[in-house]
Amino acid sequence: MDVAIAGAGLIGRMLGRQLTREGYRVTVYEREPRERSTSSSYVAAAMLAPLSEYPDCEPAIWEMATTSLDAWPAILDELDVPYGIDGSLVVAHTQDASLLVKFRRTLHRAELSGVVDLTANELATLEPELADRFSSGLHLLGEGWLDNRVLLHALERECGEIRFECPVDPDRMHGDINVDCRGSDAADPELRGVRGEVVRVFAPDVRLNRPIRLMHPKYQLYVSPRPDNVYVIGATQIESGSTSPMTVRSALELLSAAYTLHAGFAEAEILELNVGVRPAFPDNLPRVQWRDGVLCVNGLYRHGYLIAPAVVQAAMDEIRAVCKYSLTASQ
Ligand SMILES: Cc1cc2nc3c(=O)[nH]c(=O)nc-3n(C[C@H](O)[C@H](O)[C@H](O)COP(=O)(O)OP(=O)(O)OC[C@H]3O[C@@H](n4cnc5c(N)ncnc54)[C@H](O)[C@@H]3O)c2cc1C
Repeated sequence: MDVAIAGAGLIGRMLGRQLTREGYRVTVYEREPRERSTSSSYVAAAMLAPLSEYPDCEPAIWEMATTSLDAWPAILDELDVPYGIDGSLVVAHTQDASLLVKFRRTLHRAELSGVVDLTANELATLEPELADRFSSGLHLLGEGWLDNRVLLHALERECGEIRFECPVDPDRMHGDINVDCRGSDAADPELRGVRGEVVRVFAPDVRLNRPIRLMHPKYQLYVSPRPDNVYVIGATQIESGSTSPMTVRSALELLSAAYTLHAGFAEAEILELNVGVRPAFPDNLPRVQWRDGVLCVNGLYRHGYLIAPAVVQAAMDEIRAVCKYSLTASQ
């Protein structure tokens, strides 16, 4: 059976891989060139952070995140993708300590496991280079990060054929099954874009072992590690689908906050200033739904990496059900 997928972002590729493994012939059509992606998937910090997201996310996301966190290690090991699931740290400067207290209270009230208060010594053991600036914090167990660009590259080998520079209208594709994974560019009137800006730096003077979140009154800054002293610093969250270049304000705010986290960022080299648009529905929940005979998988918002395996599972359930029905009808 032939499956045509519009969009080679995270979901298009992950779904293509699963379909290929189950014997479907898959063609993925991607609008952009292979070497130059501006997709949300390429830009993302790709943290796997359900506890950090808890105060701002729906229970359904939490459930999908739990399933997905169980699935990720096997997928990433098979594809040889760097990742770390050693927990994340949340810290706050003295003047913002009340924000950390409030965040901690929210997590404790929800009786979530994996939230550990850190003394100065414990924090220094986990992240020695933060010890001179922070004397307490939270360790969120089980959280982590993955190297999204290595993942996207590795998926390219296993998700069927990708045809780059090939924009398509999913209603006009000719697969036995057609799937729309165009992210924020899908023509769904309910879909909106939420702009996010991130900075990628090479920081030879910084050695952080895990994602760090800095509580701040205006935004939640995070620093997500990559191999070889590369860090993704993010992210803004702006209700706009604009992909215009990063503003000076955003660059200043992100980089200043990173510098207050670790002085070593002062000498870091800025590799990229990136803008991505998160695809979101009004309830900020993903949807896997049939529209005019096309399976639309979208709305992963700020949780794409956190929940991708569960969303792919839901899409596969839909496709398997259709195939079973066609088989029965033709007998
Ligand atoms: C700044 C930022 C930080 C983020 N950080 C995190 C994080 O830490 N953790 C997390 O879990 N999530 C994070 N996310 C969210 C995550 O990146 C998204 O939820 C996820 O990437 C969405 O994937 P997608 O495949 O649905 O869409 P996309 O990645 O947008 O892919 C859609 C693809 O479709 C292609 N396309 C569009 N139109 C057409 C067409 N007509 N024909 C063919 N192809 C087309 C596009 O070029 C694109 O490649 C972040 C997002 C941003 C922007």
